[in-house]
This record gives sequence, C-alpha cells and structure tokens, in this order.
Amino acid sequence: MTIDEIPCLRCGTCCSLYQPLVTDEESQRIADYLGMPLKTFWEQYADTRWPIPGKHLIKHEDGHCALMQIEGKQHLCMVHLVKPDDCREWQESLEKKECKKGLLDQWNLTVSEDKTIVGEAEDQKRLANYLEEIA
Ligand code: SF4
Ligand code: SF4
Repeated sequence: MTIDEIPCLRCGTCCSLYQPLVTDEESQRIADYLGMPLKTFWEQYADTRWPIPGKHLIKHEDGHCALMQIEGKQHLCMVHLVKPDDCREWQESLEKKECKKGLLDQWNLTVSEDKTIVGEAEDQKRLANYLEEIA
C-alpha cells in the first residue's frame, strides 16, 4: 500500500495537537449548526485564555478539540459540515508528521522513503480492514 491510496485516517492527531481559530462569523455558523445561541457556544467551546479581537480559539478537553467526538478508532468532527477555515485548509497527507504519528500510534505502521506503508502483515491487515470500514 502506498501513501497516495490512504485517505484521512481519522486518527485525531491534528485535532489533538492544534487549536483552530474561528472568526465571529464562523462561530455563528457553528453555533447555528449546533442549535445553540452564540454566547452559549463561546461559553462551552472558546478557549478564553487567549483573547484575540474578532476571533476565538476552540478549547481542548480531554487532550483534544472540544468539538471532536470519538467512535471506536474514529475521531470525528462534530461540526464537520460547518467547520472553520483553519480546519478546512488542513489537508491530510502521510508526508505530514501528524498523519504519520496517527499511523504509528494506532496501527504500528510507518512510511518508507519510497512512500510505502511498512510494518507487520497483521498491522497492515488491520489498517486495510479499517479503511474498508470507513470507505
Ligand atoms: S473543529 Fe473539528 S476539524 Fe477542527 S480541530 Fe475541532 S474537531 Fe478537528
Ligand atoms: S493527523 Fe492526518 S490522518 Fe490523522 S486525522 Fe489529521 S489529517 Fe487525518
């Protein structure tokens, strides 16, 4: 298997390492999607430690973005359809250290210099089964 055949692994690494910045407009869009007033959205999800005029950082809870939900091995964005530009602009790629970390942490697999996924056959099989599951 080569890295070009691999979609986002939904490993949650990027959403655990970084905090997206959301504009007021994006906050309103997400609050509407969640069916809550804007003030409640900020109270529940904004990280108030870093005040930035016109923007808010989404806070982390339990070591990851508070807007993430975990289902089995899948780390899903609760607001995927309306997620902020910061998250939209992030492209998965097994050339990125974050995606490689997810591959290693969850499947014990690595990427070789010729961009092939390498590791034990059993782990390769687990990954293939998982990719089939989320396809
Ligand atoms: S908003 Fe969604 S995509 Fe963005 S960091 Fe949070 S969980 Fe991840
Ligand atoms: S680190 Fe990469 S593979 Fe994992 S969820 Fe983020 S984009 Fe997807």
